[in-house]
Amino acid sequence: MGKALGRLRRLPEIECFFPKTMGEALSLLKRYNGKARVFTGGTDLLPKMKRREVVPRYLIGLNGIPDLTFIKYEKEKGLRIGTATTLNEILESSIVHRRYPILLEAVSQMASTQVRNVGTIGGNLCNAVPSADTAPPLIVLGAQLKIVGPNPRKERRVLVEDFFKGPDRTVLDSNELVSEIQIPPPSSKAYGTYIKHTLRREMDLAIVGVAVWFVLDSKKNICKDVKIALGAVAPIPMRAKKAEAILRGKPLDEDLIESAATMASEESKPIDDIRGSAEYRREMVKVLTKRAIQQSLEKI
Ligand SMILES: Cc1cc2nc3c(=O)[nH]c(=O)nc-3n(C[C@H](O)[C@H](O)[C@H](O)COP(=O)(O)OP(=O)(O)OC[C@H]3O[C@@H](n4cnc5c(N)ncnc54)[C@H](O)[C@@H]3O)c2cc1C
Repeated sequence: MGKALGRLRRLPEIECFFPKTMGEALSLLKRYNGKARVFTGGTDLLPKMKRREVVPRYLIGLNGIPDLTFIKYEKEKGLRIGTATTLNEILESSIVHRRYPILLEAVSQMASTQVRNVGTIGGNLCNAVPSADTAPPLIVLGAQLKIVGPNPRKERRVLVEDFFKGPDRTVLDSNELVSEIQIPPPSSKAYGTYIKHTLRREMDLAIVGVAVWFVLDSKKNICKDVKIALGAVAPIPMRAKKAEAILRGKPLDEDLIESAATMASEESKPIDDIRGSAEYRREMVKVLTKRAIQQSLEKI
């Protein structure tokens, strides 16, 4: 008991800034190079600070910057979501409902109303845990992140699938931040599903998360393109590319789906932890990949 309380002891003094523009936030990051952390909802960062996994000297709140909170859709360019957009704002977005239902499936299964009121899509990605629920759907949707830093000429875009480097690690430098998530326009012949497996329905991290997305030909028979992304079964959210290759260019019959699901399970690299054993997770990847493809086919 004493030990547990000891681990959650009071934080040292931390100076907090709440910039009103992205320029101000970036110059603060540069000024306190490496000693400052940005945050939005703080639902991941503050518990980590309490556990002393990170103890920044300075905190920079991004949630007062209007340029980071928006959801915009253009038919030709697709969807852009500001990084400080809360999970509940995404849940309430009619355009996400109509055009990107797989993202909605993920967000609606995350946390509680209270946590979703402050927790953000950018925070979920930048926290870089393998179980981040928005990662698998964003990977299969081909989403990319706009990354900005002190030098405007070095602004870059990185696919969500290339953003993660390991647990708690991303391609971001210490003075960079993610400003928005960009998702290509959806195809009318694309179908997808995200399934999150947990012991409790919400308020729990995924034991396994599977996102499946495919595009069918004009006769809705042949799988023209496909992506499968897995969460919580490797050090980073990952694509199951060998499983995808089994499906690409072929009609999605039962034997093929079974082979692809088995391959996805073989490609996964889970570990044992308190939520489940590696063996159980591998088996669940197979079950859920198959189920996600079948559920997507039911949407045709
Ligand atoms: C009770 C509870 C239940 C939860 N349930 C789920 C769940 O079901 N599924 C799930 O995936 N997560 C869950 N979470 C985790 C968390 O709520 C989400 O990951 C949330 O989306 C984090 O957003 P945030 O704005 O609070 O992030 P913050 O805590 O503000 O930030 C997280 C990290 O990202 C960095 N960061 C934030 N924004 C940026 C940016 N723009 N650029 C660069 N770095 C940035 C911060 O420095 C920090 O390291 C839960 C958390 C709690 C407390």
